[in-house]
Amino acid sequence: MRTVFFDVDTQLDFLFPAGALAVPGAETIVKSLGELTSFAAAKGIQIVSTADAHPENDPEFAVWKPHCIVGTTGQQKVAATTLARPSILPSAPDSFRELQEQLLAAPQIIVEKQDFDCFTNPNLGPLLESLRADRFVVYGVATEHCVRCGIFGLLRTGVRVELVTDAIKSLVSGKEKEILDDFVANGGQLTTVRAATAS
Ligand SMILES: [Zn+2]
Repeated sequence: MRTVFFDVDTQLDFLFPAGALAVPGAETIVKSLGELTSFAAAKGIQIVSTADAHPENDPEFAVWKPHCIVGTTGQQKVAATTLARPSILPSAPDSFRELQEQLLAAPQIIVEKQDFDCFTNPNLGPLLESLRADRFVVYGVATEHCVRCGIFGLLRTGVRVELVTDAIKSLVSGKEKEILDDFVANGGQLTTVRAATAS
């Protein structure tokens, strides 16, 4: 079974209380995020990381307050989920075709996006097809927005999707149970950091 870890939006603006769009309590999962990342690196498991990369005055800021603006500290990923020299996959339509060789060889691929749904980057679909993974282990923030889009989008590709329930956080407390129930009802699997890093 070929596994890929799928790390959602673990960026400074979301994970820490001083961040521009902080997810309450998200700083408490950073240690777990580091364990997942170290495990993947040690086992040669490729990591696909989604990352908000907004221009200033992005239309999304009509809905959400400004966050993850390219060039700001807040847009950076936390050290706990960042490997050396990740390969970046922008949203520009031909990026996957142009960068395919380097992306597929990279231990970590950062998929940039300008919307909370990572599948709005048109290159994510072709990337996932080329990775030929049959199991995705998903974690990150925020459960009811970007994580939800990631897990359901992955399920639709027909692969096994496991959500690491102690390495996610929701923006609004109490939102998590409904999403987890829906995910399981649609064929998703729940796991933990301990189980996901066991072998
Ligand atoms: Zn955003």
